[in-house]
Amino acid sequence: MTIALAPGADPRAIQRILAGLGLWTRRLAGREGETLLEVLPHSARVPASTLREIPGIRDVFLPESPHPRLDTHPGVVRIGEVAIGAGHPPVLMAGPCAAENEDQVHRLAAAVARAGARVLRGGAFKPRTSPYAFAGHGRRALRWLAAAARENGLLLVTEVMDPGAVELAAEAADILQVGSRNMQNFPLLHAVGAAGRPVLLKRGMAATIDEWLQAAEHCLAHGAPAVLPCERGIRGWDRGTRNLLDLGAVALLAGERGLPVIVDPSHAAGRRDLVVPLARAALAAGASGLLVEVHDDPGAALSDGPQAIRPGELAAILRPPRVDLHPRPAGPARPARP
Ligand code: PEP
Ligand code: MN
Repeated sequence: MTIALAPGADPRAIQRILAGLGLWTRRLAGREGETLLEVLPHSARVPASTLREIPGIRDVFLPESPHPRLDTHPGVVRIGEVAIGAGHPPVLMAGPCAAENEDQVHRLAAAVARAGARVLRGGAFKPRTSPYAFAGHGRRALRWLAAAARENGLLLVTEVMDPGAVELAAEAADILQVGSRNMQNFPLLHAVGAAGRPVLLKRGMAATIDEWLQAAEHCLAHGAPAVLPCERGIRGWDRGTRNLLDLGAVALLAGERGLPVIVDPSHAAGRRDLVVPLARAALAAGASGLLVEVHDDPGAALSDGPQAIRPGELAAILRPPRVDLHPRPAGPARPARP
């Protein structure tokens, strides 16, 4: 936002008034002796109409943003009885990568509820790199998930990949997940937006922050009541972890933009031993929620077993972080374990 001063106005006096409103400004050289003040990031949000009434201010220019709806997105999203965003306890979303059978879904829903989760997360439609890998049980898995969430007092988030399946998923779920591989699948973003459910929008694995924000704008422009951006790691060059968790992006979206950001440490790490430390670091960076994959027999999981933690490990995530996030046993360093 840029503020133009009236001729003869004292810029320093105006800057003091603006600072009193929480606006930090910097002087720009205007044309023909005009004085302009640029409002810096981290400033409070004050409507342009309020600023125009301050004596000495001639006009206020709003930036032409590619994501005007996201710019005014609420910092707290309320879904049923769950509030997600700054000032509220972090919201844990947890469950199996894929809903494998009805019993498993009910067992895990009860376990994650006991551990403090507010949202059950499970996949009915799974995007898989290999065409021969298990791709989910589809429509019947949605039924299992919806029933298990209801019985345990949880909300449900589930992924949808096909615009044709959005209506079905929206009947079952409270939040629709768009996966990393589909972040710029615009027809899908439009269909998901039109379904009228909040969207959990995973960051594309090679997407810039700006592309991610504009993808969120697509959902909002097509009717989504809210977007929860989800950082799940971007492609790095080191294969020691599955992806590179971009905590800078989390701090930026949460801190500068005030957005309710969710972090998925499971897909970021790709290995269960790093899930709890990454989750805690994400909360420290400003995440409003966590999306965590859980399995009671990870070795037998039909997808993403190596990164699934056991339900018993889940409670540790919400405990306040200790200073030492990587406690090491005495003795020689442990070999890496996938
Ligand atoms: C998932 O959530 O199971 C998933 C496939 O995630 P992503 O889109 O982040 O790879
Ligand atoms: Mn998964």
